[in-house]
Amino acid sequence: MATSKKSSQQVIKYNNKNMILNLIHKNERITRAELKRITGLAPTTVSTLVDELIAEGIVKETGVFDTGGIGRKAVSIEINPDGMYFAGVEIESDFTFVDIYDLCFNVVYKGQAETGDYLATKNFIIDCLKKGQNQLNSKIHSVSVGVSGIVDPNTNKILLSTVVDIEDENFVCDIQSEFHEAEVYLLNSSGLIAFAEKEQRGVMDLVTVDIGKGVGSGIIIDGQIYTGAGGTAGEFGHISVDMNGEKCKCGNRGCTEIYTNTHTIRRRAAKILGVEKVTLKEVREQADNGNVEIINLLNEVAGVLAVSLIGLINMMAPESVVISGKIKELGDTFLVPLIKAVSDKCSLKTTQIEYSSVEGNAVTLGGVKLAFAKMLK
Ligand SMILES: [Zn+2]
Repeated sequence: MATSKKSSQQVIKYNNKNMILNLIHKNERITRAELKRITGLAPTTVSTLVDELIAEGIVKETGVFDTGGIGRKAVSIEINPDGMYFAGVEIESDFTFVDIYDLCFNVVYKGQAETGDYLATKNFIIDCLKKGQNQLNSKIHSVSVGVSGIVDPNTNKILLSTVVDIEDENFVCDIQSEFHEAEVYLLNSSGLIAFAEKEQRGVMDLVTVDIGKGVGSGIIIDGQIYTGAGGTAGEFGHISVDMNGEKCKCGNRGCTEIYTNTHTIRRRAAKILGVEKVTLKEVREQADNGNVEIINLLNEVAGVLAVSLIGLINMMAPESVVISGKIKELGDTFLVPLIKAVSDKCSLKTTQIEYSSVEGNAVTLGGVKLAFAKMLK
């Protein structure tokens, strides 16, 4: 009971601290009195939490300003952008990205290299982080690595990756040995995209479906990334839509990913147009210009995706299904028929289907927002 009471107090404190921090973030400049008024928290609670945030270097007092009343002056508080830096890393099939963010979640240092084997990738990340630290003249609080693959949450080892030869390796251990004071996290990229969306939208339950060369999914339940037993949850692309369909590399037949990945859409569109290659932007332009065969192709692909999405919505009833990745380049020519196909056949009407609204790299942003949330806890 004592442990349970302590942990529930910690949750309340975390939520209050997070609420105060969000208000400081949103208002740019705010006073303790305004924080007390808006949150309804006790004056001592607000003062204690603000003092903690100041001691941690997350916020700073920025001087006295006039509040408008007679002789009413107050000390304002704002985020201290340079108080702490967080690094986010994305390892995908073609490139590895390193973004260092300040406390306002602006990228202040970035690096990019072609993804090589494990040794080359690890060395690039470490080298880039060291250069970033030197340029910023500050240590990095945490390093969050997102990888397209299955990560064992207990051992931090990469169990399976279809994009790069890094199976059985341990980024956490190797990066940690170079940056002793930093927290290092390793997660599936789709989970981090989902976390970035959750933070942006302020919802507690959502699913992201990332469609590019492959089709992956990130799941947020009660505000937390859901990884499932063994870290394998979210393999939305391998839900079958045709039990007699084409064989998939996963062993099943007729997987969603086979019919809805952007390579397949581009290949089929190029065949219709009688050209060797076509970009998604050109596919969208053709649909916008009324090319019936292209419109039919996009309607068909949206219909296939809708079959799996309806299953997902019926099973989980998330507040939002967020579509991210390269597929966004198709704009409304894909999203509108997708929403229609789902609403025509799905009895649950509470789930919003939208494109991602996160700017920049959602994997690195999700990684640093997760590290930030863990720090507050
Ligand atoms: Zn499959």
